[in-house]
Amino acid sequence: MKAAIRDSGELCRELNLPTELGSDSAAASFPVFAPRGYVNKMVSGDPHDPLLLQVLSRAEETQVAAGFLKDAVGDLAASPAAGMIHKYQGRVLLVTTGACAIHCRYCFRRHFPYETAPRTLEAWRPAIRQIAEDDSVEEVILSGGDPLTLVDSLLEQLVGELERIPHLRRLRVHTRLPVVIPERVTDELLGWLTGSRLIPIVVIHANHPREVEEGVEVALAKLIRAGVPVLNQAVLLRGVNDNVESLVGLSRALVNLRVMPYYLHQLDRVAGAKHFEVPVARGLELIEQVRSQLPGYAVPRYVQEIPGEANKRVLA
Ligand SMILES: *Cc1c(COP(=O)(O)O)cnc(C)c1O
Ligand code: SF4
Repeated sequence: MKAAIRDSGELCRELNLPTELGSDSAAASFPVFAPRGYVNKMVSGDPHDPLLLQVLSRAEETQVAAGFLKDAVGDLAASPAAGMIHKYQGRVLLVTTGACAIHCRYCFRRHFPYETAPRTLEAWRPAIRQIAEDDSVEEVILSGGDPLTLVDSLLEQLVGELERIPHLRRLRVHTRLPVVIPERVTDELLGWLTGSRLIPIVVIHANHPREVEEGVEVALAKLIRAGVPVLNQAVLLRGVNDNVESLVGLSRALVNLRVMPYYLHQLDRVAGAKHFEVPVARGLELIEQVRSQLPGYAVPRYVQEIPGEANKRVLA
């Protein structure tokens, strides 16, 4: 993470692109952050590279667009304790950190007030207490930010506290790290993840087939060999994966790595991300074409989050 590119000009120069392609003012509130290994998968000289578009700050982000909000999915209204979001029956999400190993320009939590999230085990106690008092909760989702940017010792302590809650059965980890810095999947990580009484499930995030090449397969194989089911969630993004070849290629690459495509998300309408939006009608067309080319298990559910609904709405 220390070696990551943190500047749009540097990113453009690295790829032999004009620096005007990036925007400093768009990066002011949400800085550019792209790990070297990820940047190495981009095609030099291609301003439309689907990996580049996910991380390069662009002037479009600063345009105000009606209906695109800071808290796009009503997270703040669903937070009964610091760092905890409880929207859906049986599962609770913990915002473990604001740090990520990559900054995705379309991120729905790009404006989340991370400074309010706990940073120490002590600060987690109110959320842990809430979970302990609600025996309808069977699953805790470690999210963020990216939970795997935290050190293993803290994660191990947090999981140690959680596994003492008798009604908890499963521990889910939402992370992009195995994709963007696959070296993060260490034996130490596998230790706390599989050494717990809680059943582990890892949900990664890749949007384009090229993201899961070169080195990523080793990290995923480690998790899967350790008995951890790995699922993928992707976001439907204009210019990145809004075509049949990319979506079919992504699913094919994933299942060939034994990763199950889980969700394809309709973009959440977060301020600054309008230029990534693909109309739902187009998404439905794309999913239909993907379904005609792949086995059923390789087709992700196309979903949209509607604030206030009991689950993510399945569009197809
Ligand atoms: C998406 C989400 C979940 C997980 O939903 P699943 O459909 O179980 O994957 C849980 N909590 C929150 C707040 C979410 O946004
Ligand atoms: S890794 Fe996830 S939480 Fe972090 S910026 Fe990307 S989409 Fe947002």
